Amino acid sequence: MKELILAAVVSTLAFSAFAEDHDHQALKTGNGKPATSATIAANKAVAKTLNYADVRAFENNNRGLIASFDQATGDLIHNSFNFIDPRAENAHKAPDTVNPSLWRQAAYNQAAEGLYQVHQGLYQVRGADLASMTFIRGKTGWIAYDVLTSIEAAAQAMKFFFANVPEGKNLPIVAMIYSHSHADHFGGARAIQEAFPNVRVYGSKNITKEIVDENVLAGNAMGRRVAYQYGNTLGRNETGIVDAALAKGVTFGQITYVKPHKEMNLKGKWETAEIDGIEMIFMDASGTEAVSEMVTYIPSIKAVWTGEMMYQGMHNVYTLRGTKVRDSLKWSKDINEMINAWGDDVEILFGSHSAPIWGNSEINDYMKMQRDAYGFIHNQALRLANSGYVMQDLGDKIYEVMPESIRKSWHTNGYHGTYSHNARAVYNMYLGYFDMNPANLNPLPIKPESAKFVEYMGGASKLLAKAEKDFAKGEYRFVATALNKLVQVEPDNRKVRKLLADTYEQLGYQSESAGWRNTYLTGAQELRLGKVTPGALKPDSADIISEMDIGLLFDYLAVRVDATKAQHTPFTLSMHMPDTGEYYFIEMSNGNLNNVKTNVMREADAAIILKQSDVTRLQLGQVKLDKLLASKKAEITGDQAVLEKLMASLVEFDDSFEIVPFSEVQVDSHIYD
Ligand SMILES: [Zn+2]
Repeated sequence: MKELILAAVVSTLAFSAFAEDHDHQALKTGNGKPATSATIAANKAVAKTLNYADVRAFENNNRGLIASFDQATGDLIHNSFNFIDPRAENAHKAPDTVNPSLWRQAAYNQAAEGLYQVHQGLYQVRGADLASMTFIRGKTGWIAYDVLTSIEAAAQAMKFFFANVPEGKNLPIVAMIYSHSHADHFGGARAIQEAFPNVRVYGSKNITKEIVDENVLAGNAMGRRVAYQYGNTLGRNETGIVDAALAKGVTFGQITYVKPHKEMNLKGKWETAEIDGIEMIFMDASGTEAVSEMVTYIPSIKAVWTGEMMYQGMHNVYTLRGTKVRDSLKWSKDINEMINAWGDDVEILFGSHSAPIWGNSEINDYMKMQRDAYGFIHNQALRLANSGYVMQDLGDKIYEVMPESIRKSWHTNGYHGTYSHNARAVYNMYLGYFDMNPANLNPLPIKPESAKFVEYMGGASKLLAKAEKDFAKGEYRFVATALNKLVQVEPDNRKVRKLLADTYEQLGYQSESAGWRNTYLTGAQELRLGKVTPGALKPDSADIISEMDIGLLFDYLAVRVDATKAQHTPFTLSMHMPDTGEYYFIEMSNGNLNNVKTNVMREADAAIILKQSDVTRLQLGQVKLDKLLASKKAEITGDQAVLEKLMASLVEFDDSFEIVPFSEVQVDSHIYD
């Protein structure tokens, strides 16, 4: 059952492993094409609007630097981005092929690398992974806030911390706290626990359940889409990937998890606790950036830890890889709760991405601007929707109504989320995908619709000629729309693939958002080279899989059932796990696989008894069902054919399905050599 679940869980982790360096090297990741004059002009126009004189974010990042990464530690991520100058005074020198605002963010994130003292007894290792690791001096040892993506990254960051911290070198890590349910914040947990077995672990409300549940059912699709959003197959250079918005990128290695001894805020929005002698106030912020999330205030040093509620940019209300839409109103209101509760007293604000901010008024300005940016997206998207604008219009319209102050501030720029896709997400959350225009109620499927479109345009050569003209004028957005129709109809047309790839590439070069850039450039890459398979993700997710309940496992199997086949093979199956005392009744009916938790073993075609722990081993591929049956660790009675019926009804998902049409035809491959 290994393949059943691993792919899904990997996507659950809500991040990319685009730092899969070993596999990465095997890809053709050289240079793309130069920027066109239209792109150069567009990027120059963007540069004119940017307030380069405001270098506060860079100053805050450099403040308190104790030690830069040495050669051994620095190669985690930053070395591969050494083509980016991290100095504020050069942040305006964007190459023609990168949106100047994104380039500045790329420089800012490149500048974060090493151990920093934020305050007495408060340190951060920044730039060792996508997230930062924070250390707070407690009464008897250190408290670690968020522990990176992998065991390797956490071990290295911890070693670097203890080698360079000017105090408490011999003290243990006595507690670790996860701010939320995304893997870049807990995946390194075992590194800490192995070094300090007595470490106490704290997490946000329902974190374990949400880590396992979030996105499992759509896991295969998300896994494929992640590679686009994070540009897993792109080269790291001025025509490829330059940044990951939150930081440079994710490290490779094993994702682990240590279940918290205590989840906070189970009884309400606020909870005060003393952790190793330090008083902390936890505020539940679940349903903002993550399904399970919290922020923390430390009264003794007047510091607020924002987790991932805020960073130096606009976050994703909707994530391109595919997520349920997040609630931007709750996001805005929860930031307001923080301002209301702590705004008068706060002197330090630090998060798990980006540098801290010091000083009460600076922090309040920052929090208010962040609050208002999420509120703006929510309220204006709905104002426009209530005025008759539809999802497709909102992407542009939202910029037209944006207040100057939001436009001018660096940390509200759309590096991760964009206002365009976030505003459309708000529409989608409230009104769904349909815009009430009858023409959009029942359009033809993509391929036949594209064929008619091309026919109405006068055929392939006429469409292509028009597209070439518009490309020369820099009208890339509509050229992409039109050529996408044509490439659906003629996927082997070399000229079409080439021009559409060139079009996506220029759109990528103009994008402020790292995710948009990567998505366009990956589309261009696949049009030119055909399917480019990213390095396989190989997390050791045993810690997480063992938390998955049987009901969710069968929910996922139900998604894999081919209903046309299964309609002819109904069956019922009872299941009992003696180690957890749980019973399930599984029923294939009308081609649909149902499961329900029961109190007793219900009568069924077959009954199976096996331990939950063996189900985990089955999922991890550590054992086979026939072995368990032979060794009497599992027992099956009744009609044995039930299991065969189940297995025969399941499809295998293709984890590299077509996004741009595939073809054997290669174009422009030399540019990646
Ligand atoms: Zn994160």
